[in-house]
Amino acid sequence: MLSRVLMLSSRHVGAERASIIVLDGNQAVEGALIVNDFLLERSVEHWNNVLQDGLAGWVLRNRQAVMLSDTSRDERWAQRPDDAASRTGAKSAICVPVMAREQVVGILTIVHPKPLFFNQEHLALVQSIADQAGIAIYNARLYNSLQAVTRRYRELFDDSIDPICITSLNGQILEANRQAISLTGYPAEVLAEKSILELLKLPADWLSVNAEPLGAGQTLRQEGLLWTADQSAVPVEVHVRKVAFPSGDVLQWILQDITERKQLDALRDDLMAMVYHDLRSPLSNIISSLEMLNMLLPVSDDENLRALLSIAIRSTGRMQRLINTLLDIYRLEAGQPITNRTRTEVAPLVYEAVDTILPVAENKGQQVDVQIEPNLPPLDIDTDMIRRVLINLMDNATKYTSFKGKIFLSVCRKGDRVEFSVCDNGPGIPPDALEVIFDKFARLQSERFPKGIGLGLAFCRLAVRSHGGEIWVESKVNEGSCFTFALPVSPGDGESPSG
Ligand code: ADP
Repeated sequence: MLSRVLMLSSRHVGAERASIIVLDGNQAVEGALIVNDFLLERSVEHWNNVLQDGLAGWVLRNRQAVMLSDTSRDERWAQRPDDAASRTGAKSAICVPVMAREQVVGILTIVHPKPLFFNQEHLALVQSIADQAGIAIYNARLYNSLQAVTRRYRELFDDSIDPICITSLNGQILEANRQAISLTGYPAEVLAEKSILELLKLPADWLSVNAEPLGAGQTLRQEGLLWTADQSAVPVEVHVRKVAFPSGDVLQWILQDITERKQLDALRDDLMAMVYHDLRSPLSNIISSLEMLNMLLPVSDDENLRALLSIAIRSTGRMQRLINTLLDIYRLEAGQPITNRTRTEVAPLVYEAVDTILPVAENKGQQVDVQIEPNLPPLDIDTDMIRRVLINLMDNATKYTSFKGKIFLSVCRKGDRVEFSVCDNGPGIPPDALEVIFDKFARLQSERFPKGIGLGLAFCRLAVRSHGGEIWVESKVNEGSCFTFALPVSPGDGESPSG
């Protein structure tokens, strides 16, 4: 580009030589010299020397164009040995600053072997060439920095420890980094012909439902499986973000390989299940021994002893329910179906659950009312599991409701389902938490609330759903909560009263 500027300048003004020095601040970074249409190489050091004591230096310091009609008579022209009268002698010269955005980015010098050669027209022409050169140098710099930024982006993209794919909004892979290529096992060119939906085996409408509504700065997180070139499935945590590119919006997919985490989770779950399982039989032994002891104790015996015994029985019963619940969570999450369904009468089941909770409620001065619709059909259920669902809901009602609160348990038939409701006049649950509280370890933050581990409702939801039922809560803050679950009546157990 520089040599073209010089050719243009020297030919248009009929000069013999032309040079251009490109600057960064006050320092030369490169330069070009043309003598009789030949481009000559000079070092950066040479150009810095020219700036030190030559006419170019003066132009740089004064930011002014200069036209010399006789170089031998102007002290701004650094006299070199070949300028002697016996050699090339006096010449004429034009030297102009090359400007870009108010900065001097270069110095253009044109020399004619004879004095008094240049006129104002030549000066104007050289100045306009210098102006064009300024724009060209500025653009070249912008281009270089753009290239550097692109290179840097590419390095960051490729060096990321996570596999990343950039796709169009319809999932077509546009770019994939080194990690993505290695994780998927597809060569870059094959990957570029695939859709991310195909790799993640996502349904065709996944993008329109999940990715399209994403706003600026929002990230969608989801776990899934990535199908590699050898058809193995790698568990991944997918983070999807919409990114605005100059050419339009694209999607950025970070595909974190979570194989190790999943293996550890499975190991932990197996270990926990083993521990719970092994705790069960000694605990059953303790419970039956305590119950025997209770039966064998003569009625007349010490009241204190009997009270202590009933605390021990209640506490071990509680521990047994907790262990069974933890084991059930593990099994139900693993997708195991309910196997030990038995035909169960509703009323006795409800009263067993109430009897378990009654001592706790009475301790808190709470009133427990029960209303069971007569003639309910028996249900085919895992009796112990559904009893624990009821106990969990009533336990929560007593736990979160203050002293002297009211708890109301009602059971009725609604169509082909039986609905169980546990209502209280406790603190209530804010609307945005009504769904969340059913998640594992979800707890509402409040100083006033007693401590819990946040597994009770998660268990209830898993247990009810695995029976083909549904559970939900209606609540008003400071007024109370009503947890309801509905279980299907077995086919053939009579038509619903409503028809
Ligand atoms: P835990 O009781 O061990 O914390 P749960 O899963 O049973 O776990 O309940 C989750 C959260 O739901 C509780 O921490 C509490 O904040 C809220 N919650 C449950 N039942 C009630 C209720 N009857 N009244 C008010 N908040 C409740």
